[in-house]
Amino acid sequence: MALYSVPVLILKEGTQRTVGKDALRANITAARALSELLKTSLGPRGLDKMLVDSFGDITVTNDGATIVKEMEVQHPAAKLMVEVAKAQDAEVGDGTTSAVVFAGALLAKAEELLEQDIHPTVIIDGYIKALNKSLEVLEQIAKRISSDDRSYLSKAVSTAIASKYVGRGTIAEKLTELAIDAALAVAEKKPDGTFDFLVDNVKIEKKKGGNVTDTQLIYGIVLDKEVVHPGMPKRVEKARIALLDAPLEVEKPEISAKINITKPELMKAFLDEEANILKNMVDRISEVGANVVVCQKGIDDVAQHFLAKKGILAVRRVKRSDMEKLERATGGKIVSSVRDLKPEDLGYADLVEERKVGNDKMVFIEGCKNPKAVTILIRGANDMVLDEVERTLKDALNVLRNVMRVPKILPGGGAVEVELALALRDYATKIGGKEQLAIEAFAAALEEIPMILAETAGLDPLDTLMKLRKLHAEGKVAAGIDVINGKVVEDMYEINVVDPLLVKANIVKSGCEAAATILKIDDIISASPLKKEKEKEKEKESFKESEF
Ligand code: ADP
Ligand code: MG
Repeated sequence: MALYSVPVLILKEGTQRTVGKDALRANITAARALSELLKTSLGPRGLDKMLVDSFGDITVTNDGATIVKEMEVQHPAAKLMVEVAKAQDAEVGDGTTSAVVFAGALLAKAEELLEQDIHPTVIIDGYIKALNKSLEVLEQIAKRISSDDRSYLSKAVSTAIASKYVGRGTIAEKLTELAIDAALAVAEKKPDGTFDFLVDNVKIEKKKGGNVTDTQLIYGIVLDKEVVHPGMPKRVEKARIALLDAPLEVEKPEISAKINITKPELMKAFLDEEANILKNMVDRISEVGANVVVCQKGIDDVAQHFLAKKGILAVRRVKRSDMEKLERATGGKIVSSVRDLKPEDLGYADLVEERKVGNDKMVFIEGCKNPKAVTILIRGANDMVLDEVERTLKDALNVLRNVMRVPKILPGGGAVEVELALALRDYATKIGGKEQLAIEAFAAALEEIPMILAETAGLDPLDTLMKLRKLHAEGKVAAGIDVINGKVVEDMYEINVVDPLLVKANIVKSGCEAAATILKIDDIISASPLKKEKEKEKEKESFKESEF
């Protein structure tokens, strides 16, 4: 006995520990708080959140990913939910609100099961069975489309952007068309007939001013730069473009060197020498046949002058990412020393031109060697509008990538969730036991989505759910909620509300994973924050001092 009488401390002083059910309950509460917050943003009638960051910058949006990114979440379990949203965003670029809301609903149902003394591992096992069954059913009910079928592509886009405040009406139609044109331009056909493209290949530029309807698609690259020297041409056809990541400047020595100039002639010789170096650089550029220079670094005044004399159009301090896009678009190669520049390194474009956009000038590079490079130039009255249009377009492009990659769609507006729930309840009875309860809980969690959509549409959630269950039991797989007109419809395809299979599958997957992760935790051990310890030390010191 004596052996045990000495308490053994394995944790540092100040460490907080919460164990077992208390830990679980604390985590569930925190995670649910986050999903409760996002709930009201779901769907086309979802409300916006206004977020103010620590610098006082304001973001107004109902985009789930943006909301959780901007929020500075403290609680570790809530942070896990933020990770879900981020992962969902990174993987499929849409469905973030749904994923968090679904994870929250799964946790709420789990809490009820925990109250009935069902062990977390049983719940997790049941949830995973339900997930696998759901993925199976999703595949079965998904409708196959052709990857480049504009009518379906536009339905999927309009459903995805419906919740943005530029997501409906003529503006939305215009943005949808732009996104589809851009996607079809950059997409590459794979042997199996599907398409794929990198969303990043569609460059997005924003310029304040004008109207959102002035937003345009340019088959080429737009640089937010102006031509560096007034003596240069503003328009070059059949452009041969040098892509430089070296400065057209005489490099200053790294260490501060001192040059003693004793005679005025020497001063002139020194400056002449500098000019000479620059002139040689420009001569080299012109010799290889370039008539446009795009430089990642600076271009010295003297070099600008020489370039202008040769009739070469030049832009400077171009972003690295733009340089890389230009490399791909024009077929050129980024060269890091003018001396190494060769004719085959030059890129080609039919036209390089500086144009006025609003109050600024931008350089347009069109008719590139590789037509798979396009830019969408967003216009709008202020930064908030520009940002929201950008998010909307990114969503649209992501959806397009998803349906082009896996050309299968599902009915939206809660139809899929009700259908899944129906199939799961049937499946649960076959499994039986305590896991049956977990599978049924999973089904009920899925139904949260149509219930929330019903609420945002001004309908009674329970009443609507009952109607939908009845329709689905009668075999109406696509019955869902028309949120805009506030009514239950028998065929979501008919009112053009469809979601990509890839997004829906990812929502159930990531929601379930998040819930399972949180349910597995039975012990929270949190070290006391560093700052507090330092403060404590300070307190001790000041206490010591005051003793004297
Ligand atoms: P998420 O971040 O999860 O993508 P959204 O706010 O984009 O959240 O909402 C997506 C949900 O809204 C999907 O379930 C989709 O089917 C549904 N939805 C979109 N437009 C409509 C509509 N007109 N009627 C009913 N449901 C819609
Ligand atoms: Mg969405």
